[in-house]
Amino acid sequence: MTKYKPIAPQQFPKFAGIKTYMRLPHCRTTQGIDFAVVGVPWDGATSYRTGQRLGPDAIRKVSVTLRPYNQALDVEIFEQCSGVDYGDLPVVPGYIGDTYARIEEELSPLVAAGVIPVLMGGDHSITLPELRAIAKTHGPVALVHFDSHTDTNDQYFGRPYYHGSPFRRAVEENLLLPDYSIQVGMRGSVYSKDAYNDSKSLGFKVITMADIREMGLPKLSEKIRERVEQTRVFVTFDIDVVDPAFAPGTGTPEIGGLTSGEAIDLIQGLNGLNFVGFDVVEVLPDYDVAELTALLAANIIYEFLSMIALNKKNSNGNEKPG
Ligand code: MN
Ligand code: MN
Repeated sequence: MTKYKPIAPQQFPKFAGIKTYMRLPHCRTTQGIDFAVVGVPWDGATSYRTGQRLGPDAIRKVSVTLRPYNQALDVEIFEQCSGVDYGDLPVVPGYIGDTYARIEEELSPLVAAGVIPVLMGGDHSITLPELRAIAKTHGPVALVHFDSHTDTNDQYFGRPYYHGSPFRRAVEENLLLPDYSIQVGMRGSVYSKDAYNDSKSLGFKVITMADIREMGLPKLSEKIRERVEQTRVFVTFDIDVVDPAFAPGTGTPEIGGLTSGEAIDLIQGLNGLNFVGFDVVEVLPDYDVAELTALLAANIIYEFLSMIALNKKNSNGNEKPG
């Protein structure tokens, strides 16, 4: 079977060619792959700045510099895995219902085939249809949610769907296991004193940025692992959990966040969890500087792929794919 892996820069220069994530083949297969990197160029449900539709493009562009061996996690991704850049999903500009239907429809066959989707947003509203596709195969899953916002608001102009409500809707639709789920990094001004109680009453554990500063990162990683156990888990990473000094290219920035290095450490601290999917959302290239935000997002995805590879390595010894 074909094994899908990046083109080596010793054979074809990094700066040349059409940009895919990490120079993986662009291929819409569900066969012979462990993961698919998928773009979701949707920004029709934002509350402030818009332009996240160009996030996948920006991430792909800078991802060509990534190399296959992850030193920190000690894994060569493509010794273990086969993976593709699946391209972008066909969103319908201006129509969130149609867009949700298409995201779910396009992702479901991938998930059903046992492929782990790794999605690039797009605003955070896209995570709801992603979770619908995941739940169709896996049933309700745990959620690890990095964000400066809880995204568990209810209505927005009397409407149920926007980038501030996906996790309330996901609980209502029984797509999540709130008792195993955790939200991390919340901070900044909010609408009322009990703003985070919405999330807590839905069943989520909420760890604020102030909590993180108090407990430190190793303790936080431990808390996340204790919460999730070996439940199937979806990881959603809103880039605005990172401080705007490190990730300026986003739609609703909040000061006082993680550094990019801390974000990578936190992701690596999830290693060994039972992953069924990932996304990185809210990258907004128009507000980016020196491609900082896109590069961070590309590297977060790289850590996800490394952990997929490690799980595969640990589940079947050194057996090669394909
Ligand atoms: Mn969010
Ligand atoms: Mn956010």
